[in-house]
Amino acid sequence: MESSSAATVSAGPSPGPTPADLLRRLRARGAADPVTHVERVPARPGVPAPWPSWAPPELRAAFARRGVVAPWQHQAQAATLAYEGEHVVVATGTASGKSLAYQLPALATLLADPRATVLYLAPTKALAADQLRAVAALELEGVRPACYDGDTPRTEREWIRRHSRFVLTNPDMLHHGVLPGHAQWSGFLRRLAYVVIDECHTYRGVFGSHVAHVLRRLRRQCARFGSTPVFVLASATSGDPSTAAGRLTGLPVTAVTEDASPRGGVTFALWEPPLLPPDSGPSTPVPPQSTGDHDDLQQIRRSALRETADLLADTVAEGVRTLAFVRSRKGAEVVAANARRALDDAVPGLGDRVAAYRGGYLREERRELERALLHGDLLGLASTNALELGVDLVGLDAVLICGYPGTRASLWQQAGRAGRSGQEALAVLVARDDPLDTYLVHHPEAIFGAPVEATVLDPANPYVLAPQLACAAFEAPLTPADLALFGDGAKEAVDQLVAAGALRQRPTGWYWRHRERPEVDLRGEGGAPVCVVESSTGRLLGTVDGGSSHFLLHSGAVYLHQGVSYVVDDLDLVDGCALVHAEEPDWSTHARDVTDLSVVSVRSYVDAGPVGMFLGEVDVTSQVVSYQRRRIATGEVIDTRPLDLPARELRTVAVWFTLSPQSLTLAGVQPADVPGALHAAEHAAIGLLPLMATCDRWDIGGLSTAVHQDTEAPTVFVYDGHPGGAGFAERAYGTASAWLRATRDAIAECGCESGCPSCVQSPKCGNGNNPLSKPDAIRVLDVVLANLPE
Ligand SMILES: [Zn+2]
Ligand SMILES: [Zn+2]
Repeated sequence: MESSSAATVSAGPSPGPTPADLLRRLRARGAADPVTHVERVPARPGVPAPWPSWAPPELRAAFARRGVVAPWQHQAQAATLAYEGEHVVVATGTASGKSLAYQLPALATLLADPRATVLYLAPTKALAADQLRAVAALELEGVRPACYDGDTPRTEREWIRRHSRFVLTNPDMLHHGVLPGHAQWSGFLRRLAYVVIDECHTYRGVFGSHVAHVLRRLRRQCARFGSTPVFVLASATSGDPSTAAGRLTGLPVTAVTEDASPRGGVTFALWEPPLLPPDSGPSTPVPPQSTGDHDDLQQIRRSALRETADLLADTVAEGVRTLAFVRSRKGAEVVAANARRALDDAVPGLGDRVAAYRGGYLREERRELERALLHGDLLGLASTNALELGVDLVGLDAVLICGYPGTRASLWQQAGRAGRSGQEALAVLVARDDPLDTYLVHHPEAIFGAPVEATVLDPANPYVLAPQLACAAFEAPLTPADLALFGDGAKEAVDQLVAAGALRQRPTGWYWRHRERPEVDLRGEGGAPVCVVESSTGRLLGTVDGGSSHFLLHSGAVYLHQGVSYVVDDLDLVDGCALVHAEEPDWSTHARDVTDLSVVSVRSYVDAGPVGMFLGEVDVTSQVVSYQRRRIATGEVIDTRPLDLPARELRTVAVWFTLSPQSLTLAGVQPADVPGALHAAEHAAIGLLPLMATCDRWDIGGLSTAVHQDTEAPTVFVYDGHPGGAGFAERAYGTASAWLRATRDAIAECGCESGCPSCVQSPKCGNGNNPLSKPDAIRVLDVVLANLPE
């Protein structure tokens, strides 16, 4: 969410320790120093720019009334590019005021041309509502901003279509409502000057690929009505925003990335929980229901939750106002409870000053929480990201981040909660036992240097392209000229739709044959989505795409929905429905699958002597066979339980590398150790892919084998977990040497002896993490890196 104003609630002075002093005390606690890096991010004054000469005085005055005296340089730069007709993406930090960059040219145009219109797209209704408030507050004559989404009453819709000149909506509404009903929108589309796409980094993977085609359909309708709107996109900082925005819109897009907004100083520490002494770790008792391979994930490092709880207790004991971000609500409660206990042990009653933030608070309760924290009645709060949705907390002295939140944008958003005006704050990232976290705490440049993580999508995915072309044909017959707009593969997809009887070819183009609209869900992927239903009330909580449902909604799975924990009673694949009940057990569940894979075709490859690197289509058969229950507080494995789910078939895109057996022998990998070496490299490579492309572990899968029937060589495959691919494997192929270098470093830099969850073990492994060889995985990757061109 983007806010251009910095309405900081100032707090009374508190004579707390400086961030440097505080950090010194925190790290002096144990025997080994857990801090791997300290980055002092200095405070930065903003660089203002004059109002662009084209910005009309009444608009400047309206912004001035809202407290914007002058734009920051990046805002002025992006705004002027857009005003001059260039498509532009502004990719700068959290709260850097990206909204001014599009509001300025869009509103200036609306004031200059009383007929012009603007379409604003947000990924969520809440963000659109926020933006509506911001635009409405400017009180500009004749703009009449309005939200148009599923909640808009029918009675208001016609008024909005006719009279609003700044319509705020979301891609789903554009897809289901505006484009199929383009005749009713013709007046609006004919005069469309700007399309604003806010938080455009959220359009990634299969969903992003669908949205890319919805935007092409929008451009096609605009062209039919004679308009060519300018696209202005706002993105979190990411690697190569211009390419990502270009793929999303299909247009050349100029990136503005130099952030000129002011920022408070922060001391940022990277914290790696210490290895447990060999004899003092929590024992892993053999549980009665175990299938025998319960002990494959050995916990050898102190858990990030325990470490975060101790840090929270220590900072609160120092009188420092601290917010701890924890990924799950149960985890947040564990952190708060442990911190409270530690504080009460030291000073009875002190524990009362720590709380856990649960989602679903009423507005008044949130305000009360803010007040308690502001006045110091409450000093420590452990929360999930749900906080981002509801509570306005600024001016904290310290932020603890328990586990990398998945993207750099989220990391900085959380760290950005620290820091009162003019004062330095402390931020600590506590690594979880995960190869990506391990890598990050040993490679601060990945956090503090130029971003490499890119937003990826693949509009050429045939499973996305064909249904989108059907939607386009329903809206207006497709012409040969349209095919270029929809990009690579469009002709093949149209031919298939003709063969399937969905389209009819006539001399003038391709026509949709049916009366009804094609049913296409932008968010449904990998088969029909599965509904998540609360058994006792029949309430629909949400949907999970078919592909992920076996992993996330199997019987016994703990399913988190908006911070609330549910347990799945039954997954009914025939009805596409999972019945759940609210329950918060103190364990989490991790499904495991077994996979078979065959190569269909090779799209591209690099022949590097003994090493080959490939990108191509593959058929994957995978079956979720069991799940593991792990204690949330400690990560300790409770047991592994079998599941009876059918195998799933998937045609998708994979990246893979092969090595000659001789090169492995030369590198010192014994033939018997090849399977363990490849398997360990595969796990870590999957773990590190989110460094290059925004994805999570459900988006990708892997397979490794000492001899694969199609490659006839030792091979490691990493594939997109979505039918037709989503761009992740392609990004991995494009950044192969950087990706595998990071993978190698993460393994080598983990302090464990023979492999652990922080490097080569995977909670998702269908083979019980067996065999795995950590030292040989490094040798394998060294051979690949020595031969592969940069
Ligand atoms: Zn390790
Ligand atoms: Zn595995």
